[in-house]
Amino acid sequence: MKDQGVSEICSTCPYCGVGCGVRLLADGQGGLTVRGDPEHPANFGKLCSKGSALGETVGLEGRLLSPRVHGREANWDEALDLVAQRFRETIEQHGPESVGFYVSGQLLTEDYYVANKLMKGYVGAANIDTNSRLCMASSVAGHRRAFGTDTVPGTYEDLEEADLIVLVGSNLAWCHPVLYQRILAARKARGTKLVVIDPRRTASCDGADMHLALKAGTDAALFNGLLCAIHEAGALDKEFLATVQGFNEALIAASSDRDTVTGLSEAQLAAFYKLWIGTGKVVTVYSQGVNQSTSGSDKVNAILNCHLATGRIGTPGCGPFSITGQPNAMGGREVGGLANMLACHLDIENADHRAAVHEFWDSPRMADAPGLKAVDLFRAAGDGRIKALWIIHTNPAVTMPDADAVTKAIADCDFVVVSDITAATDTARLAHVLLPASAWAEKEGTVTNSDRTISRQRAALPAPGVARPDWEILAEVGRRMGWREAFDYACPAEIFREYAALSGLAGTLGRDFDISAKAELSDSAYMAMAPFRWPASATRNGGRFFADGRFYHPDGKARMLPIRYRPPASEPCTEFPFRLNTGRIRDQWHTMTRTARSPRLAAHLAEPFLEIHPEDARRLGIAPADLVRLENPQGKAILRARITDAVAPGDVFAPMHWTGETAPSARIDALVAANTDPVSGQPESKASTTAVARFDAA
Ligand code: SF4
Repeated sequence: MKDQGVSEICSTCPYCGVGCGVRLLADGQGGLTVRGDPEHPANFGKLCSKGSALGETVGLEGRLLSPRVHGREANWDEALDLVAQRFRETIEQHGPESVGFYVSGQLLTEDYYVANKLMKGYVGAANIDTNSRLCMASSVAGHRRAFGTDTVPGTYEDLEEADLIVLVGSNLAWCHPVLYQRILAARKARGTKLVVIDPRRTASCDGADMHLALKAGTDAALFNGLLCAIHEAGALDKEFLATVQGFNEALIAASSDRDTVTGLSEAQLAAFYKLWIGTGKVVTVYSQGVNQSTSGSDKVNAILNCHLATGRIGTPGCGPFSITGQPNAMGGREVGGLANMLACHLDIENADHRAAVHEFWDSPRMADAPGLKAVDLFRAAGDGRIKALWIIHTNPAVTMPDADAVTKAIADCDFVVVSDITAATDTARLAHVLLPASAWAEKEGTVTNSDRTISRQRAALPAPGVARPDWEILAEVGRRMGWREAFDYACPAEIFREYAALSGLAGTLGRDFDISAKAELSDSAYMAMAPFRWPASATRNGGRFFADGRFYHPDGKARMLPIRYRPPASEPCTEFPFRLNTGRIRDQWHTMTRTARSPRLAAHLAEPFLEIHPEDARRLGIAPADLVRLENPQGKAILRARITDAVAPGDVFAPMHWTGETAPSARIDALVAANTDPVSGQPESKASTTAVARFDAA
């Protein structure tokens, strides 16, 4: 959408799930000026450091400008024919389960839709998973268990109307900065209380009313303790509980847990419980610290149990609120981008849902069971079950747990295709075929942010060389595999209309992800589409979920789950005595393919580091800025020590951004064990164990 009289283009920031609106102004020479969109409902003109530096990241250094086949330059026809031929032959010889797609929350919804349709409806398997599996799969599982669908009830306005905000496992100040700024503004305006629950003292703790530095991984025990305290205080919402099943079982399980495992004092626990119970409007915000755990789904349900028991859900200023990490992680969930889901909140394990989507797509076959989740997908690539793998806009050789093993699995796979904007990633170097994709500022489509607002992403720059949008590359391969009509899309608007029509079908199956009012949009109306949050205000109690006590389980009731605390899969021991926490820093994004281009972003924290407590440093003879060596059964790393009491004794923290390209000794996910949550399949990225020593120690 171009504003009258100026050439600014309204789009969205490609980094985090806040989904800020941006205004882009191209200078006609490949440069771009970026400012916050004052009218976008996520940010009202504000941007964080990363969003403000977007203009510095669009240069063409390192861009992949043409396809490559076995390392040599090729044209699109040769590359696409080869991809289609190898996938077709693999399916013929080894069956649909022998191929896989590993995609990304960087994909736009239209890209995701085509990838899903190709894999689930035409290949006929569900081996498509996304790097969002590493980010919020436990929240998806928790929502589905409690509500019957993966529906996020919260909105950003709730954060501004709450009287108490509890951040659990979320460094919002660094990872979702504009949303954190909205909270700070609300604190100033109405005195909102802020509690941070995190083993590590982060920037989000600055100025918080309370920081509960619980022992890593004990969140479920804490919220079980809260549920018991709610019961003992007579603070249950008995009317709302009539719409919920499982309260007694949840309470019995919670009562047999001990919140003392949190390591918090009785006074700290009592103060938190009193504040939570005594405040009417509470929003509990959670992200990776909760999700990235072998008990992540249980932690989510322990939080949801407390909100369901008190009816603190779906009303202004109230609710549990999972925040997504990537710009279109939520869109990927809505469009069925995970191996265990179908589009529009339909279930792959429900025969009626599968049949409805199969009929809608009029496809030759349909996946009839969940596919391999990310960790299992790469295990299957390593042991030969997956023989053809297409990796799109993500760098699993760096970011997957047990990254060295994943690198070997990709290297050993018979046929690997990588679509990306650059050939300079650890994963792209392993590809047999490299496909040049359009970058963020060159693409048209839609994204959904953490509060269900769907926004248009718009192109402001031409794609360089012969780079193409992902939906087009995927559709080309679909056509060349023999499904010409099904993938005969001319533009993203056409894909969006098909998706919107499918959502209407989901509406008839009891789902509220219904954007079918957009199914007849003209191309020009799609190009001009303003941000909107689903559901439309006419449905669901003015666009709010669950305050009406209506949920998506067959009986219409929510579920409270009996949760028992489980410790992380790896416990510190004599050989590997430290608990390794990994996470993001303020000014870098994922594996730095874009943010590393900005000198001012690099200036924040210029090199990888390891946070270690002063007592541990003293004991190991580590001085500030010393190099330290980490080692465990998965891998090794060398990092510079930052001695700080922000981490507890016995805990260490390292950022996850540096790669084999940027700092070969600092690929921290090489040390993360591939332990996963049995329900969500999400890896435990925050609780591996490791040995730590000064680099030159004997
Ligand atoms: Fe971009 Fe997130 Fe920053 Fe907003 S808060 S500008 S979406 S990185």
